[in-house]
Amino acid sequence: MQSYQTPENLLREKGMKVTPQRLLIVREIQDAGHIDVDSLYGKIREVFPSLSLATIYKNINALMDEGLLREVKIDGMKNLYELVTKDHIHFVCSKCGEVSDIGIDELEVSSFFRKISGKNVKDYVITIFGEDCDKCSSVN
Ligand SMILES: [Zn+2]
Ligand SMILES: [Zn+2]
Repeated sequence: MQSYQTPENLLREKGMKVTPQRLLIVREIQDAGHIDVDSLYGKIREVFPSLSLATIYKNINALMDEGLLREVKIDGMKNLYELVTKDHIHFVCSKCGEVSDIGIDELEVSSFFRKISGKNVKDYVITIFGEDCDKCSSVN
């Protein structure tokens, strides 16, 4: 498990200006794990009703530039945003749509892909689609 960092620490660590809007954006993404921009916008507007979608995007882009946020693209879903944590792949539950993180050994996976492709692997994106995520099974 990754140790919990407050949104304020995360911003300070990257040398970013700490604004109430940024703090809230980081906190909401941290709480959600993975969130699309519309859901994020809805949550932010509960606190800052006058904040525009353009401003949210501006902040998201700034946070991505600093390597604090990452965009997650999954087929058939809206783009999601998540905090940059250590390497993981995504598990998408076909029952409830929940996206969860599965930790992997980066070196092991890279070397596997290098082996099967015969290429110098720089990056990879893996999404597993399955059923009965922790959320589903905890409801039953
Ligand atoms: Zn993730
Ligand atoms: Zn599920």
